[in-house]
Amino acid sequence: MTPLDSLALSRGTVDRLTEQRADTAWLDAAWADPGTRVLVVSDGQALARVDDEQAALVFVPPRQAPEGTRFLLGRDDADGIVYFGVSAPLPAAPPGTRPAALREVGTLLGDRDAGLLTHAVALANWHDTHTHCPVDGTPTVPGPGGHFTVCPKDGTEHFPRTDPAVIMLITDPDDRCLLARNAAWPGRRVSILAGFVEPGESAEQAVIREVAEETHIKVTDVRYVGSQPWPMPRSLMLGFRAEAPAGQAIEVDREEIAEAYWFSRDELLAAIRAREIALPPPVSIARQIIEQWYGGPLPSTWSEPPRRQ
Ligand SMILES: [Zn+2]
Repeated sequence: MTPLDSLALSRGTVDRLTEQRADTAWLDAAWADPGTRVLVVSDGQALARVDDEQAALVFVPPRQAPEGTRFLLGRDDADGIVYFGVSAPLPAAPPGTRPAALREVGTLLGDRDAGLLTHAVALANWHDTHTHCPVDGTPTVPGPGGHFTVCPKDGTEHFPRTDPAVIMLITDPDDRCLLARNAAWPGRRVSILAGFVEPGESAEQAVIREVAEETHIKVTDVRYVGSQPWPMPRSLMLGFRAEAPAGQAIEVDREEIAEAYWFSRDELLAAIRAREIALPPPVSIARQIIEQWYGGPLPSTWSEPPRRQ
């Protein structure tokens, strides 16, 4: 089994400069540098130039950045340019650009931009939804680099939260893969099973529990295959493979999972071509894990991003 090597949102190349986040003199100098670039994000979107083949983010110099919550994203060591994010309403779109979201352009952006947008959306989502101290309800103030907030009343510091989720491809002794349709999904969409890790639970335990809850299948031999941040709004998707020993019948829970079936490689391709099912888009770790099992690219995508196959 080869490692997952094409996870769209795990490609960031910028040095996060964690040591500089608390250095206010360094931060001030970086913000005053006209060569610094700022990515404005709002509601999970940033301005980008987008065509069928590729996309590039639109940055502004600091003096053109709108007022908003500011955070240091890092420095591209190839050219020394420092990047900040600002969570604020998007500026007017220059000609040829438009607001774009990660799901849509995650696979079209270059490595640097994919990492910057993923990082900025994750931090902005956290700032947007964690505005008050959880201890006493006082509005918090962002720390200097924007990677934590402080309660001015009791001095407690609060750090960004990421929710770990597991996503797993299950195979049976015939190497067929288990695909399911979530009850909340429209039409022909299917994917592999997924769920959040509970407090006090390991990722491997979560894989076993979620598969049993959703399909009554008991799995063994749980193996990690790779991870991808999914800041919609704050998940980290931990990818796994696991085995379903013979002699088990699928019994879906009906609340979360509407139906689930085993697919051989030939059956999967036939079902896609017959338009009986549609797979998640290439930006997702689910699609990459399915194609890793299949042994190559597959046609068919949910209709979310307009993208050529
Ligand atoms: Zn407080």
